[in-house]
Amino acid sequence: MNRFFTNNKEELSAFNAILSSAKNIIVTSHQNPDGDAFGSGLGFTLFLKNAFPDTVVTFVSPTDYAPFLAWLPGVSDLKVYNSNLDNIIQDSDLIFCLDFSAISRLKDMAEVVLNSKAKKVIVDHHELPENFADFYYWDQEASSTCELIWNLMGELKMPTAINTEIATCIYTGLLTDTGSFRFPATSPQVHLIAAKLLQLGVKPNEIHRSLFDKNPVERLQLLAHILNNNMNYLPELRTVYFTAFEEELKKFSSNNGDTEGIVNYGLSIKGVVMAAIFIEKDGIIKISFRSIHGFSVADLARDHFEGGGHKNAAGGRSSLTMQKTIEKFLTLLPNYQKELLEQPN
Ligand code: 5GP
Ligand code: MN
Repeated sequence: MNRFFTNNKEELSAFNAILSSAKNIIVTSHQNPDGDAFGSGLGFTLFLKNAFPDTVVTFVSPTDYAPFLAWLPGVSDLKVYNSNLDNIIQDSDLIFCLDFSAISRLKDMAEVVLNSKAKKVIVDHHELPENFADFYYWDQEASSTCELIWNLMGELKMPTAINTEIATCIYTGLLTDTGSFRFPATSPQVHLIAAKLLQLGVKPNEIHRSLFDKNPVERLQLLAHILNNNMNYLPELRTVYFTAFEEELKKFSSNNGDTEGIVNYGLSIKGVVMAAIFIEKDGIIKISFRSIHGFSVADLARDHFEGGGHKNAAGGRSSLTMQKTIEKFLTLLPNYQKELLEQPN
C-alpha cells in the first residue's frame, strides 16, 4: 500500500507553492531516533537548506540521540526539543514528519506540532498512518524513510545537487533499516540507490564502522551479560525474549541506544520466529519485537502493548512492572502458537 501526494497534480502544486514561499520549515522524526529517522531528517534538512538558502530550516528531534549517531553530517545544527522551541514550531509554515506516522511518537513535542499553523507532511513507511497530515508520501513496502526521501528529492526537481554529506545520511538509513541489506525489503531499487550514493562519494566501510564498530567496551559487556543471564528460549513457541533491568543498564554505564540490536540475536537461533526484549527505563517497560516471515509483531504490539511499526520489526510499551509485563506476554503467547508454528523454517 502507498500514498504519494506527488501523484496528485493539485496536491503537488499546493505543496510546491507552500514550499517555495515558506520562511520557516521544521523537520522532525520519532523519539529515540534510529539510523533511518536521523539519516532522513539530517539529509533532508541539508537538502532543503541548500535548495532554499533564505529559508530557516530546523531539524528538531523530540528526544536526545544515541552516541552511535553523533558523527552524522549536520548533527551539530539540530535541536533537541524543549518548550523554548514552541514558538518557532508554532509559527512555522511547513513541518516534515519523517519515519513515523503516529503522532504519539513525538512524545512531548506532539501537541505543539498538532496545534501549529504549519502544513504537515508525512514521509514514512510504518503501517497504518494516522490522519494528522496534509500531505502523505508514504509507502509501507519501502525499505526505509531514507529510500522515500531519496525518491522525493528526485521528484522535487530542485536544481540542488545531492552532495556527499546528504548521500551519507541517506545511506545510513538504507543500511540500518535493511539490517545491512538483508531484510526482505532489500529490493533491487535499494541496491540501485546505494550504488548512486557510492558514486556520490559515500564510504560504506567508514559508515558501517562509525555505526557499529566504535562502541565503548561496556556495550559489549552488557550484550554478553544479557545473552548469558537474561535470555529465555521457548522452543515450543519458537520465541526468545530478553529482559534488561534499569539496575543492569546502570551497572554497564548504558547509554541511550546501547540495547539496540540485542533483540536480533534471538532470531539467530534456528527455528525461532519471534524475539522480544523488555527494557526497564524511566518507570515503564519499553519493548522491541522482531519476527520473520508472515508473523506480524506490528499487530501484536498494536493489539497489546500500545505500539506498532512494521510486520517484522515493531515496538511498544507497558506501564506494568517487568514481572507483570512478562506474565502478560507469556499469557498471550498460546493464542499465537498456531501462527508461530506454521511459519516456514
Ligand atoms: P524499535 O524496536 O527499534 O524501537 O522499533 C522497531 C520499529 O517499530 C521501528 O520502525 C520503530 O519506528 C517502530 N516503533 C517502535 N515503537 C513504536 C510505537 O510505539 N508505535 C509505532 N507505531 N511504531 C513503533
Ligand atoms: Mn524507518
